[in-house]
Amino acid sequence: MRPKPSRLMDHREYPVLYVDDEADNLRIFELTFRRDFTILTASSAKEGLQLLSEHPVAVVLSDHKMPGTEGVEFLRRVRELDSRAIRILMTAYGDTKILGDAINDGNIYRYIAKPWEPEDVRLTVRRAIEAYALEAERATLLEELMILNRLSRTIHRDIDRGHLYETLLGALRDELAFDGCSLLLREPGSERFRFVASQPADDVAERLADLAFDPTNAPVFLDRLYKGESQVLLGDEAAELEVPVRAWLTEVSAAEIFVVPLAGKQEVIGALAVDNRRGGQGLGADGRMLVEGLATQAVIAIENAQLVDDLRRSRAQIRRVDRLGTLGTLAAGLAHEINNPLVSLNTFLTLAPAKRHSDDPGFWGEYHELACGELERIRGLVEAMSRLGRSGSQPALARDRVQVGEVVRQVVRLLNRESARAGVEIEVVESEALPEVEVVRDQIHQVVLNLALNAIQASGEGGTIRIQVDPDGPIDAPIGVRIRFQDSGEGISEENLERIFDPFFTTKDPDKGTGLGLMISHQIITDHGGSIEVESTPGEGATFHVRLPCTAPIRPTEGPVEVDTGSA
Ligand code: ADP
Repeated sequence: MRPKPSRLMDHREYPVLYVDDEADNLRIFELTFRRDFTILTASSAKEGLQLLSEHPVAVVLSDHKMPGTEGVEFLRRVRELDSRAIRILMTAYGDTKILGDAINDGNIYRYIAKPWEPEDVRLTVRRAIEAYALEAERATLLEELMILNRLSRTIHRDIDRGHLYETLLGALRDELAFDGCSLLLREPGSERFRFVASQPADDVAERLADLAFDPTNAPVFLDRLYKGESQVLLGDEAAELEVPVRAWLTEVSAAEIFVVPLAGKQEVIGALAVDNRRGGQGLGADGRMLVEGLATQAVIAIENAQLVDDLRRSRAQIRRVDRLGTLGTLAAGLAHEINNPLVSLNTFLTLAPAKRHSDDPGFWGEYHELACGELERIRGLVEAMSRLGRSGSQPALARDRVQVGEVVRQVVRLLNRESARAGVEIEVVESEALPEVEVVRDQIHQVVLNLALNAIQASGEGGTIRIQVDPDGPIDAPIGVRIRFQDSGEGISEENLERIFDPFFTTKDPDKGTGLGLMISHQIITDHGGSIEVESTPGEGATFHVRLPCTAPIRPTEGPVEVDTGSA
């Protein structure tokens, strides 16, 4: 809501109270100004205060010299009763002391000298009304901004989509007092919009969930949505509207539905709608502005929540692929580990028939014990292996041309909360003219996430992390990119430096670390033909250097491609 220009303002909308103990004065005042203002009169301070407690008034004019309570004292009480009312003293006495005190104490806004000139009074009262209206508008605006601010904070805290929708619509109903509200979202990969949530959550909401808007049944509605235009759907005009829009109006049976598009970073992702289905008053300009403001915030929160969902899904997928890759690496190690004891066992079993009738203590004692020990070792290895899950093979995933800087920024955005909680600041420095690299985007995302999370976890409150992305190779013909993760955390001891890439090596609590992050990152980077190295001075932080070539050798597909079931 913006302050309206005064020429559009109807001063008669704002009541004016005039208090004077002389009936003639009251009558003259009323006769003179009744065309200009809505006038209330009172013949004493008592009567004036009584009137004020019943009607809000914009301007109070009072004669000073009245029997009983004097004008200045009366206006002081008016101020206590309603500090927003503009107070004007009318006095025949040039008592500058009384006037000065009253003005200095903030009890009066102006004074008018008696006998008054109609034009003076008219102008003064007009200005007073305008000051009152402006202040009222400022207060409303402030209140609206506070509501909007509070709502934005609430919805930005939600990263769970279902809960976010509930919070958003709950805010529209409970805080902004709209009778009903709905959220429409575009179905992924299609041009169809559907209701994903409505409040109140009654049978109307259930029926709305069955409605769909697509370019065949609601082209005009969708066209306006895509253009980013808000629209008011009127119940009176329902008959002329497109079928699903008409059905919507009929279902909620509202006189008005106000629809605001949710314009995402790249496209319109949906719409937020409010209605007056309980027959409340029409949706005014202020309410609409609030919904538009909320929609701007909501779209960011919804896109963030979608990003988190996507990330969860891709992490789950990568975890599965990684698990298979891990097993591949481990299988090679295990084959080696099993082979040695097998040689001992083989020798023992080959010799056993010949030793059947001998009591060679060397053979049946020490050697037998050794063979049993080797068997136990194999059993232990098999047990460790089975803990890792079922065997499989890693499919070759599709590679895309990716700007690493963009992946880094996306990860840093996602870790905002994490870093804020840890009191750690992350700075991203990106060289210009970075070449694109051909990679499995989700996997590189995973590496950046692992390294950045490790850096956050290693840094204490007030720590800083610098992630720098530079071209690798000659400036005019780069062959890849270098990513440097530098933190000011606890660093890594020389002894641990040797082991941090080993599977299951972790110095963190079991609920925080699995000891697989760096091993997986190492494997991903190696698969992409790159390298990952670390340097650290204990107590001063650690720096991880990742190099990725623009193009990497493609590995052959070694088995069936895993189907993502979408479960985390
Ligand atoms: P996890 O983080 O689950 O323990 P990782 O493979 O990611 O497994 O890391 C293994 C270990 O390497 C960590 O437990 C930690 O001791 C060490 N480490 C990794 N990154 C850092 C770092 N930036 N600063 C200090 N230590 C680190």
